[in-house]
Amino acid sequence: MSASSFLKALPFEEIVGQERALAILSSALRSGRISQAYLFVGPEGVGRETTAYSFFWHLLCEKKEACGDCLPCLKFLRGVHPDLHILKPAGKSIKIEQIRELEARLQLHPVESPYRLVLLPKAESLTREAGNALLKSLEEPPPQTVFILIAQNPEALLPTIVSRCQLLRFRPLSRSQVERLLVKRFQKLPEEASGLSFLCEGSIGRALKLSEKGLLEELFRFEATISSGKPSQIVNLAEVMAALGEDLPLFLELVLLWLRQALVSSLGLGEYPSLLPPSPPKGFIVRACEEIERAFFALEANLNVELFFLSLLNALAHLWQSAREAEVTPAGAGAT
Ligand SMILES: [Zn+2]
Repeated sequence: MSASSFLKALPFEEIVGQERALAILSSALRSGRISQAYLFVGPEGVGRETTAYSFFWHLLCEKKEACGDCLPCLKFLRGVHPDLHILKPAGKSIKIEQIRELEARLQLHPVESPYRLVLLPKAESLTREAGNALLKSLEEPPPQTVFILIAQNPEALLPTIVSRCQLLRFRPLSRSQVERLLVKRFQKLPEEASGLSFLCEGSIGRALKLSEKGLLEELFRFEATISSGKPSQIVNLAEVMAALGEDLPLFLELVLLWLRQALVSSLGLGEYPSLLPPSPPKGFIVRACEEIERAFFALEANLNVELFFLSLLNALAHLWQSAREAEVTPAGAGAT
């Protein structure tokens, strides 16, 4: 249980862009009619986890208002409240042993508050067995237990689990909401905030990752390498990409986003964001998208990432070269 996760809790009025979900939760707090299980569904980085923590914070507070001053609030904010249980994947999945351990703890009386609170920030990672075991707790929960499950999409969960939960949808933020938040709360410069708001698809979490992990700089390196086609640069880039590790899928999404923006503006359907690398030749875009899509699947398999990207980057460099030649030499014109 890391203390940093608790910094995610904010007073409701500071959570941006999720008015519907917040209205439902606020009304539950006011009326005291709290559901036994909620399912927060929506893209990553739009406030699902923050809202879950904030809701729990209200429930634990002596005044029910997340005052930040009472003893339960202080414990909660320090990440040491004994009635809050957070179930994260152990390795890649949440396993049945974890659910059994949780069940045992839920059989005990709440230690300090009227509630036992359970958060599953990545409910998709429940194994089938773990999901079935959790279902029992959801069907006959110990009194005064509140579950919040968080998932990107409900189809990834057992339908029986979904049907036990009150479903709240979380939506991507608007570009202007992202921009304002980045400047006000995360002290980004206005130009950077504006650029990131273009690339993050409404997810503040994604905007922050792109900014903090330097992935945009890597995209520039990617474009420079593919367009030059120099073997030594390609070898370097394959190494760099392999070293991205768990950030590699996010980087590939950024590459796709760049290609899509290029496509949209080449069709005259939107402006091309100035903070992106130069737009690639038209003939490159669609086929490159297909290659990158395939890379996502390849990453799932247990292969040598560096070798895989070496071959992918070589293929992309060839594709770029022939797309550029086709632009310079229109079809039908004789080669000289
Ligand atoms: Zn309080």
